[in-house]
Amino acid sequence: FPAGTVEPDYVLDEALGTDAAGVFESVSDADRAYWMRARAFVQDDLLPVIGEHWDRSEYSLDLVRRLGELDLLRDGVSVDGWEPMSKTAAGLVSMELSRGDGSIATVSGVQGGLAMRSIALCGSEEQRRRWLPRMATGELLGAFALTEPTHGSDSVSLETRATPVAGGWLINGEKKWIGNGSMGGITVVWARSDEDGQVRGFVVPQESEGYTGTTIRGKLALRAIHQARIRFENVFVPEENVLPAARSFKNTAEVLFATRISVAWGAVGHAQACYETALQYARQRVQFGRPLAASQIVQERLARMLSELTQIQLLVARMTEREEAGVLTGEQASLAKYTGTRAARSIAANARDLMGGNGILIENRVARHFADIEALHTYEGTETIQALIIGRSITGISAFA
Ligand code: FAD
Repeated sequence: FPAGTVEPDYVLDEALGTDAAGVFESVSDADRAYWMRARAFVQDDLLPVIGEHWDRSEYSLDLVRRLGELDLLRDGVSVDGWEPMSKTAAGLVSMELSRGDGSIATVSGVQGGLAMRSIALCGSEEQRRRWLPRMATGELLGAFALTEPTHGSDSVSLETRATPVAGGWLINGEKKWIGNGSMGGITVVWARSDEDGQVRGFVVPQESEGYTGTTIRGKLALRAIHQARIRFENVFVPEENVLPAARSFKNTAEVLFATRISVAWGAVGHAQACYETALQYARQRVQFGRPLAASQIVQERLARMLSELTQIQLLVARMTEREEAGVLTGEQASLAKYTGTRAARSIAANARDLMGGNGILIENRVARHFADIEALHTYEGTETIQALIIGRSITGISAFA
C-alpha cells in the first residue's frame, strides 16, 4: 500500500458512490443539483484541508462562508427569495458533507438545522426577515442553546431562567456543548420563564453584556467545529428578540424532531466514507502474497458493511418521503437516528480495523469518521434515549425515569 495513504476516490459526475439497492436512482434533478454541489465542495474545498483542521482543532470560517455561497448551510429551511429546498435535498447534503467530514456537516446542522429552524418555526415574519437571509449565507453564525451542564438527556428539566423586566427579559444560567456558541453571532436560548414556568425561546446576540461563551477544548471528536460553555449573567433580551411561537418545551422538541432525520442522513455519509475507504484499502493492501480483499473473511466483512449501509440508506430515504408527506412520527425519526448511528458506528469500527495501523492515521480519513461518529451517537438525543422513545411507543410504557 503506497506511502500509507488512501487517495480520495470521489468521482464527481457518473459514479454516485455506493448505492447497492439503487436508492438514489430516482432523485429529482433539483435535489441532485444540491447533492452534486455538496459533493464538489467536499472534493474541491474540504478534503484537501480538513485533515489539518481536524488535527489542529481549528474551525475554518472560510469553509463556512463557502458553504453559504453554495447554499449548503440551511438544512432545507425556507428563506424568502431563496430557491425551494426539499427535505430530500437537505438529507443528501447532510449525507454528502458527512461523507467529507463530521465537523462541517455539524456546522450546517447547527446553523440551519437548529438555529435557523428555531427562528423559521417559532419566529415572527419580521424576525425571519431580520435573521434568516444573513444566516443562510454564513455572514451571521447561529447557535442553539438547550443543553446545560446538569441537564443533557433530561434537557426538559432545564434551569436557565428568564425573568420579565421592562421592555424585555433577563436571562440567567449556564449552557454546555453549544455549537457556534462562542463565535460572535447569535444564540437561540431556551430558558424557563419566571412568569409561568414554561420554556421559551430567545435570540441573544453573543456580544450582549453578561454573555460569556468559552470554547470547549480537548475534544476527541468533531475537532474542526467549536462548541462552547456559556454563562448568562443578567443578560438583557429585548421583547423583539423573543420567539413568539416558542411557548413551551413542545416547541423545542419540534425543532429537535426535524433535525433527527438530518443526523441519520449524516450517519449514512460517515458509513459510506468508511466503507468506501476500507474497500479501496482491502483491494490494494497485500499481505501473505495477496490483497486483503482476496480473503473470504474480509469479503464477508465487506458484505456485512455493505448490508448495514444499504439498510440505512433505504431507511433514511423512506423516512424522508414520509417527512415530505407530513406523516413522519417522532418515533420514526428516532428509529432512523438510532438505526443510522448504530450502523455507522459498526461500519466505522470494521473499516478502522481492516486498515490496520493505517486506520488510525488522520490522513487516511477513517480515523476521523471513527471518532466523529461518537458525537453523532450522543448528540440530538443519545442512542439510549432514542431506544427509550421507540420502546415507549412499542410498549406503551415510559421507562425514562
Ligand atoms: P447524559 O444525559 O448525562 O447521559 C449519559 C449517559 O446516560 C448516556 O449514555 C445516556 O444515554 C444515558 N442515559 C441518560 N438518561 C438515561 C435513562 N433515563 N435511562 C438510561 N440511560 C440514560 N446541545 C445543544 O443544546 N446545542 C448544541 O449545539 C449541541 N451540540 C453538541 C455537540 C457535541 C459534540 C456534543 C457531544 C453534544 C452537543 N450537545 C448540544 C449536547 C447533546 O445534545 C447532549 O450531549 C446529549 O443530549 C446527551 O446529554 P449528556 O451529554 O449530558 O449525557
